[in-house]
Amino acid sequence: MRIAIVGAGIVGAATAYELAADGHEVTVFEQRGAAAEEASFGSAGLLAPALLVPWATPGLGDGQKRRLWGGSAAPHLVRGAGSGGLAWRWRWSQAGRSPGVRALLAALEGLGRYSRMRTRELAGLFDVDPETSRGTLVLLRRPEDLEQLQPALQVLRDAGETLHEVDADTARLIEPGLSTDAPLAGALHAPDGEASNCRLFAQILRHAAQELGAQYVFGARVQALGKGSASLQVAGEAAPRPFDAVVLCAGLDSAALLRPQGLHLPMAAVHGYTISAPLREDTHAPQGSVIDPLHHITITRQGQRVRVSGGAELGHGGGVQHAPTLQTLYLALSGWFPGGALTSSHQVQVWRGARPTLPDGAPVIGNSGRSGLWINAGHGACGWAQACGSARALADLIAGRAPAVDLQPFGAQRF
Ligand SMILES: Cc1cc2nc3c(=O)[nH]c(=O)nc-3n(C[C@H](O)[C@H](O)[C@H](O)COP(=O)(O)OP(=O)(O)OC[C@H]3O[C@@H](n4cnc5c(N)ncnc54)[C@H](O)[C@@H]3O)c2cc1C
Repeated sequence: MRIAIVGAGIVGAATAYELAADGHEVTVFEQRGAAAEEASFGSAGLLAPALLVPWATPGLGDGQKRRLWGGSAAPHLVRGAGSGGLAWRWRWSQAGRSPGVRALLAALEGLGRYSRMRTRELAGLFDVDPETSRGTLVLLRRPEDLEQLQPALQVLRDAGETLHEVDADTARLIEPGLSTDAPLAGALHAPDGEASNCRLFAQILRHAAQELGAQYVFGARVQALGKGSASLQVAGEAAPRPFDAVVLCAGLDSAALLRPQGLHLPMAAVHGYTISAPLREDTHAPQGSVIDPLHHITITRQGQRVRVSGGAELGHGGGVQHAPTLQTLYLALSGWFPGGALTSSHQVQVWRGARPTLPDGAPVIGNSGRSGLWINAGHGACGWAQACGSARALADLIAGRAPAVDLQPFGAQRF
């Protein structure tokens, strides 16, 4: 088939690769000048366990007490959030109380697990190392912090994920750079956890797809999708381009492109930050990835850099970076791993990006219900952790094969 992909973030790049590998004639339309310039640019890079990525899900429970990510489980509103932001945040907090939420968590876990496997397979096939580090440690400042994670931990354990509860001394053996001064009651260790460089892998996928014959058209903004036929209109072109199928992987812009089709995805930009700093001293830096659940912060190793990530804001914020959030990130990095990174270096990169998020935290993957139009978007806080699995599963669906993961919970029709 002749298939068009809209968007060359990690999700579009993975989808293009899988469809090209299946022998389709693939063309990717990307408005920017390169792959992974939007949400996929500076992702924290946590690949697994996907369910433990901060802001992956709205949280579970019957009230404030049993929220997945502690008391402040909702993104905060900044300039530009408006009443739409407030309404969206309400939907987000309600989603954690819906009767189907545990089934959805299990489905997300399955997708994350499949995606980790597919990412590893592809890295092996391409013979590349996208700055991979193994092992994820969840840092528990107080013993009761574990209680707040129980819903996700239960789902992970039920699915067979290895999770060890370790004391503070053992945590410091796993991560020798961890400060001895920082308050640490213990930790949860996922030896099969993983982090790597999302942007780098998107570029690798792009090259791999091109080698299979896929075309990438950069600087091409798709301004409309065809109605009643698989086609798209690129800005500045006289006529729509016809295809046999179109796959929408436009991240945050997917909702606007779907609206004229009569599909209303309640997608929000949940902004967050990453700070990447050069390594100062290897033994003082994280060897794998760590999560600080109290502050919804991750610290990951990306080759010769250390990346700290956090923050969840609804609204454009006036284009201004939120100084207190950045300060918290710097403090977390130097507090947990003193001497691990050169935070005063001129090579420090501060990035604000938007997680394309739906109110239940899950993506939309599958047929749109419109002729020839498929969707792979709305991966929120987990786009990297879900990209390769969702791409393979969607490619199977398009080929008429049964995907290895159940995509039914990720239908657009749930909204
Ligand atoms: C601070 C932060 C930390 C994160 N940490 C993690 C993490 O640890 N683990 C994890 O799994 N995920 C993480 N994420 C989430 C992850 O980065 C996103 O879910 C993922 O990048 C989304 O990928 P995407 O391809 O759907 O979107 P994008 O990367 O935004 O790609 C969409 C592409 O579509 C293009 N496009 C849009 N509209 C058009 C159009 N009309 N025509 C042509 N092109 C178009 C855009 O230019 C863009 O390149 C994080 C995100 C943030 C902000």
